[in-house]
Amino acid sequence: MSSILALARPEIVALQAYSHASWDPAFDRLHANELPWRAETDRSLAGLNRYPEPHPHALAQRLAELYGVDAAQLLPGRGSDESIDLVVRGFCRAGIDNVIICPPTFGMYSVAARIQGAQVREVPLLRADFSLDTAGVLAACDAHTRVVFLCSPNNPTGNAMDPAAVEQVIVALAGKALVVVDEAYIEFSGDPSLTRSLARFPNLVVLRTLSKAFGLAGARVGSLIAHPEIVALLTKVIPPYSIPQLAIEAVLATLAPPQLAVQRERVAQVRAERDRVSAALRGGKFLRQLWPSVTNFLLADFVDAEVALAAARDAKLLIRDMRSVSPHSLRISMGTPEQNDRLIRSLA
Ligand code: PMP
Repeated sequence: MSSILALARPEIVALQAYSHASWDPAFDRLHANELPWRAETDRSLAGLNRYPEPHPHALAQRLAELYGVDAAQLLPGRGSDESIDLVVRGFCRAGIDNVIICPPTFGMYSVAARIQGAQVREVPLLRADFSLDTAGVLAACDAHTRVVFLCSPNNPTGNAMDPAAVEQVIVALAGKALVVVDEAYIEFSGDPSLTRSLARFPNLVVLRTLSKAFGLAGARVGSLIAHPEIVALLTKVIPPYSIPQLAIEAVLATLAPPQLAVQRERVAQVRAERDRVSAALRGGKFLRQLWPSVTNFLLADFVDAEVALAAARDAKLLIRDMRSVSPHSLRISMGTPEQNDRLIRSLA
């Protein structure tokens, strides 16, 4: 067993994977207790009367091409949410192991860890600029730390972590813990992905999603990208048929080259809108502070966050209350130019 699987839960390493009905589209299927006819409303390519491919290879292959990795390094799941859950279920023993998170950050890391019964240790980002407290993270790790979650660019603060600091954590924890780098928003930053470093770091797991820059949040498809042994282990944990046929078809259609060009243009438009909204908010009298963002959202501190929330609601806009993060903070996702205009009129 390689050193990276030595960190996994022994019972998962030993687990016999569920034996699903065999998959061979050349045969008629009288082995899976399905109905032989489609529903009359079914407009799918493959027919929703049939189970989808248990572990969809064409999808994995297409996503691997998109992210420039081998298919053996990639596990598609129902959004990054499922990838996060798989990592803690595969690597954390309930009541024994712990994970590290760096708040303020995305809430699912701690929820998934607590569901699994893992202890959650918090090492806050440094307050001045929300940068990573590298020394603090390493000091919080012990022999039972199995996963360090880093979110870069980070939700809700909008900044990317210094790649050298991230790399320092990965190197220091080699053979000791996984470092999961959640890159849900990386397309909006234009920075290179850490996937290029996977060959050097067997303890690195990169999470990517189609929910943000690819406009497919409703399809629920994310990718866990890691050493092939980690992917093979977590393939035993993910339920078979996890990704519905409609989602598979939607993704393959959206990742065809003409659509990809449209998506790239939309990302560029979001970045331009982010700059335009930032400039307009900065000119407004209600703003205390606007945090620099490389994402498709802005974290803004208002003189009176309650008044700003109410003003947005009056303009029929929902923005996210982040006062649990800091007393004056709201998070604003970039919308269409018209929606952003309405936001600017209500807040600036
Ligand atoms: N990671 C981060 C940092 C997020 O902000 C979100 C969604 N808000 C997710 C993951 C979840 O993404 P998905 O839709 O792929 O589950």
